[in-house]
Amino acid sequence: MKSRPIPDWSGQRLAALLAVLVLLRPPIAAQRARAELPPEIRQRFNETLQRSYQELFAEAARLEFSPSHIAAMRRILEDLQSSCTRQYRNRTQELERQLRSAQEELKRVTNRIDDTERKQRHCQIQNLRAVSSQARVLAEHAIPVAFENKKAKLELVEKWPGELQRIKAEIAAGTHHGRRWGDVKDIGFRELVPGQENDVKDGQEAVRQMKLAGLMPPEVDNQAVRQYVVSLAQRIAKHSDLRVPLNITVLNSKEINAFALPGGFLFIQRGLLEAVENESQLAGVIAHEIAHVTGRHGHKLMRKATISSIIYQAAQIAAIILTGGAASIGTYYALQYGFYGLGLVLSLDMLGVSREFELEADQLGVQYAWNAGYDPAGFIKFFDKMATTEGYVNGVSWFRTHPPFYQRMVETQREILFLPPKEGLIENSPEFDRMKAELKKVTEEAEKEEKDRPSLLAPVQGCPAPEKIEYKPGQPIETLCPAP
Ligand SMILES: [Zn+2]
Repeated sequence: MKSRPIPDWSGQRLAALLAVLVLLRPPIAAQRARAELPPEIRQRFNETLQRSYQELFAEAARLEFSPSHIAAMRRILEDLQSSCTRQYRNRTQELERQLRSAQEELKRVTNRIDDTERKQRHCQIQNLRAVSSQARVLAEHAIPVAFENKKAKLELVEKWPGELQRIKAEIAAGTHHGRRWGDVKDIGFRELVPGQENDVKDGQEAVRQMKLAGLMPPEVDNQAVRQYVVSLAQRIAKHSDLRVPLNITVLNSKEINAFALPGGFLFIQRGLLEAVENESQLAGVIAHEIAHVTGRHGHKLMRKATISSIIYQAAQIAAIILTGGAASIGTYYALQYGFYGLGLVLSLDMLGVSREFELEADQLGVQYAWNAGYDPAGFIKFFDKMATTEGYVNGVSWFRTHPPFYQRMVETQREILFLPPKEGLIENSPEFDRMKAELKKVTEEAEKEEKDRPSLLAPVQGCPAPEKIEYKPGQPIETLCPAP
């Protein structure tokens, strides 16, 4: 194509025009939002969104942020989340590139290096695998969970005052008694879903197959810890709609998790006992799991799948993770802790976890904890702690396919307000504190063993400990990524 001669003034005109356009160009949403939000309002938002759900439920009506400021803050959070995620995705890619080139380089020089240098290179590769999986977990899990929690709190600031008015009106009119499972005074005498006892053989079969497949961590070998957990769980079971015996096992695994198999097989993992701060928090989690059993959620979701096909699939996922076959969150667990996270490999269908059933388990769980004499708000407090401080590592399995945080927290709080008032609800007990003291010994012992145990993913012994991306629990997530 023949190029047309360009008159020499056009360059200058073009530059001037571009300069004007740059000045006039509509700022992107986030820039505009930042400009709309006076610094002192932004500061107030930052402080507000650091507060717990409990404090926000109590104070939202007095906060008085304007709708336009709330909208501007939401855009800022969206923008921070995407830039923060992008930053860690890039970092992951860069680390993975370094990892591949270290591996290729090793292949090239393998016949020319001595043992000392080989060991150094092995350690370097091991370290790169650990750091890149950390960066990936931050980008794909921790950052989204932390921001979702923040956005849910912002939504709460916006909508809770109106919601609370509606709740109060329902209570005044007595219409709340007609809600689904509103017959809380009949807990234990009502039948939610007939046929709980038919699930027992499925649960037994699942336990048997999990053991055969090597998926079941060992039990905690401490009588005091086990007895405490058993008596707490039995107390909640006695005040629930459970119609089958509750079978309780405490597993010696760092995962912050509890799960229930159909038919009343409850598993509490050591990591959960370490993470809860008081008895009402632990009671809330146990009650939620018992509700999956009483609601027969696993039975409803498993449909025609057989237990053996479900466990076979879980074992395959665990094998892929343990051999480093996929750089996934599972690899991160395996590298950091030498386990693959049962909460990540077990089928959600078998655990009865779906959006709809999570909300139902939240509602019933709060009822059971309350009926057993515990402060039902313990569940909300623990959920918040997981999302803001622990959500980035061990707790991730907890957030696998959960309903939106806002909906979950508001519906739980609504149920709490609908429950008849009760005096002397328990938040903590001396037994809980004694269990914690015993648990320290169990943890120390387990950590010592973990350190000496070679794993498939970290086969080189004697390397310096893998680097950690600095993120202190309790630290706000934005400090991971300075604002752009
Ligand atoms: Zn659940």
